[in-house]
Parts: sequence; C-alpha cells; structure tokens
Amino acid sequence: MKHTEKSALVVFSGGQDSATCLAWALDRFDRVETLGFDYGQRHAVELSCRTEVLQRLRPLFPQWDTKLGPDTLLSLDVFQQLGETALTHDVEISMTATGLPSTFVPGRNLIFLTLAAAQAYRRGIRHIVTGVCETDFSGYPDCRDDTMKALQVAVNLGMQARLVIDTPLMWRTKAETWALARSLGGQDLIELILEHTHTCYQGSRGARHDWGYGCGACPACELRAAGWEQYRENASGGQRA
Ligand code: ZN
Repeated sequence: MKHTEKSALVVFSGGQDSATCLAWALDRFDRVETLGFDYGQRHAVELSCRTEVLQRLRPLFPQWDTKLGPDTLLSLDVFQQLGETALTHDVEISMTATGLPSTFVPGRNLIFLTLAAAQAYRRGIRHIVTGVCETDFSGYPDCRDDTMKALQVAVNLGMQARLVIDTPLMWRTKAETWALARSLGGQDLIELILEHTHTCYQGSRGARHDWGYGCGACPACELRAAGWEQYRENASGGQRA
C-alpha cells in the first residue's frame, strides 16, 4: 500500500497528553486515525474516556470531524501475564530499587509503538503521533526522545518503510501542553480535556478538581495539577502584560 504523506495514526489513551496530540494531528493532517491499547490497566476508566473524547470532539469541531477516521482498540493482556506493576495490579505506587517508579511497565511503549507502526503500515499511514514527553514526566526511559528515535529507525528497518514517529509534546512542560491545546482548539478543547480525559493512576473519577478528575495524590495527578496551575498563572500573567 502506498503511504499517504498527509495521514497520521495517533496513539490515543484517553489521557490529557494524547488528547492534545489528537488535536495537534487533526490540525495538521488530512486523515487521522486513532489506536488504543487495553493492557489490563488499573485505570481502565481511561478506556471509556477515550470513547467519550472521540464522540464529543466531532460535534465541537466540525472541521476535524471529516478528517477523523476509524478508532482501533487492541487487547494486550500479555503485560498482566508478564508480572506485577502498579499500573496493572493492586500494588503500591512507590520508587523501586531500579530508580524507576513501580508504575513503570517494562517494554510498554516499545510494544505500543511497534504495534502502532504495524497498524500504520497496514493502513497506508505515514505518521505515528505519540504523547510521550521527557520534560515533566515520571522518568520512564521509554518516553525519552532517544528511545523514540531508535524505535523509528528499528521499525523502518524491520518493515522496510518510511514511517515518522512524531512527538509534539517531547520538549513541552505540562503547562505548555495546556497552552498548545488552547491554541489548537480554544476554550472548547480545554473544557473537553478537563472534563473527559483521564490521567490518574488510581483510576479515580471521584473528585472534580479545577484541573479535572483524579485522586489528587498520585504522581500523575500531581503532575497534571502542577501543570494546570502553571498554565493558569502564565495565562493570567499574559493578560496583565
Ligand atoms: Zn491520581
């Protein structure tokens, strides 16, 4: 199949970062498809959020509706078979002896991106868009820029393809990610992300904070809350200037 230059496959989890990446791709490409993974994550609420975001995006942004193609959800229970992490099992979120948090799922992004490449190849899509970031992050080595560049080389060699892995958030802080969402979709997109994306490791949708839903205490909630606060501060500073 000939790869279409202006097409993208977004690795879409239903979280803040991947929702922003989805808008980024819809703003740039003529055809955008989405791919998600059910890997037995404790925060399975993410999976219902992704459907919700996709459904609500269409009427809010008619200019994107026509570009947005099919969504695929792949089942990957293999991670649960491999062993316990705090994202797939009921174990405490803590720092481990390796210096990585117990939420780290070894190989996760390596496998996600390889599967995304396989899907992009089959669908005739050239760009793979992922929300990985090494600016405000939990220290996962599979989110790093070098890992993504190495993966791009590996999948292209292994598939004899010219796929491009795009990482629009790699060098953005969480506050800058909010600002990017604002520039792409205005306040409507900000509200959609606040209300309907999910970030919390605990899968909590209980309390609505000004930055969205979550337990408010896990590392993912702390990052999201701090990013929102900084974004609001920057925004109000900008208005005074
Ligand atoms: Zn949380």
